[in-house]
Amino acid sequence: MNDLINDLYQEIILDHGREPRNFGECEPHNKSADGHNPLCGDSLKLTFLLNDQNIIEDIKFIGEGCAISLASASLMTEKLKGKKIEVAEEIFKDFTNLVSGSDEDLKVLNEEDSLYALKGVGGFPMRVKCATMAWHAFNQALKD
Ligand code: ZN
Repeated sequence: MNDLINDLYQEIILDHGREPRNFGECEPHNKSADGHNPLCGDSLKLTFLLNDQNIIEDIKFIGEGCAISLASASLMTEKLKGKKIEVAEEIFKDFTNLVSGSDEDLKVLNEEDSLYALKGVGGFPMRVKCATMAWHAFNQALKD
């Protein structure tokens, strides 16, 4: 059973790595940030449109790098699109906990979630940077 789940998770990562969703630039957008992970050679530019109800109306990224960085950015945009900013921030916290190997105190994510596919990177510090690059760019864009 665990092998099956791992296979499914791996399939999600390969699928999103090969064909990233929400690839491009939001026009118009009012938030943007760049992400870099020199250790692996990953980079991306994230743009999104936050409307006056504080909902992420649209979110896209362009980037290049390893399958994990692209899959993570792709899964992130799918997850955050249409979310209120408060919820998006909870998801951000949950995700960073998840990939640092602790999924005990998650507030909004659960095992049904496609983001769980990236939980496996927890054991590999180099890969954690790949998986979190897009998320840190998102967090950075919120602060600017
Ligand atoms: Zn990478």
